[in-house]
Amino acid sequence: NIQQRLQRVLDYINGNTRIADIGSDHAKLLIKAHELGKLEFGIAGEVVNGPFNASVEAIQSAGLSHKVDVRLGDGLMVVNPSDEIDTVTICGMGQELIAHILHKQLDRLNSIQHVICQSNTFSYLIRDELVAQNFEIMDELIMRENGHTYEIIYAKRNHEEVPKLSEKERQFGPVLLKEKGEMFNLRYQNEIQHLERIVHQIDESKHRDKVVALTERINMIKEVIDDEN
Ligand code: SAM
Repeated sequence: NIQQRLQRVLDYINGNTRIADIGSDHAKLLIKAHELGKLEFGIAGEVVNGPFNASVEAIQSAGLSHKVDVRLGDGLMVVNPSDEIDTVTICGMGQELIAHILHKQLDRLNSIQHVICQSNTFSYLIRDELVAQNFEIMDELIMRENGHTYEIIYAKRNHEEVPKLSEKERQFGPVLLKEKGEMFNLRYQNEIQHLERIVHQIDESKHRDKVVALTERINMIKEVIDDEN
């Protein structure tokens, strides 16, 4: 069955829509979208031959070749304006790669109204890119699965200029900051403990800048966690 993180991504898709899943690997997301009645047409984009072939095989054995095009290429390069893609999903990667994919081609594809990103790390570079391209962050979540922490961001195209995020909003997420749920607090309490351990181990006389930077980060997280809104 499909992983929770991909299920949560699919939860943000409403109705029967045209989805490009970039970095599809096994094409599980699009196959599940079809099963849920959410897929009118899909593009599975892959830049690496192995996962590209895996996607082709998975789509064939699911009997979905009429509905899903598997395309080899870098990021959103595989999507054409005439595909009229409405929703882009980019999952299971680090934020640098996701932000890079959004940066390169999103502005060429006016039909795209919804972007859902699932980062394996933090997401501030993704937030920067979305806001710069006038996509408004509508929802965010932090979840844990199989010992990993994931962040998911759902953003929607806004035809007005999207307001800039404050430094805390970009780092911690505008929605996550408001909610500060259990997973949020747990994640950042763990990060504080981790960073404090590092600070204790560093020889401050040799690495003063590093200690200053880590202490700043620790203080910022403490401020965020302790602030009752
Ligand atoms: N999206 C799937 C998931 O979440 O389970 C697969 C995640 S897998 C770890 C990341 C995939 O992204 C790999 O198959 C990799 O080949 C692909 N990928 C990396 N960079 C890419 C790019 N620039 N364009 C398209 N695919 C890319």
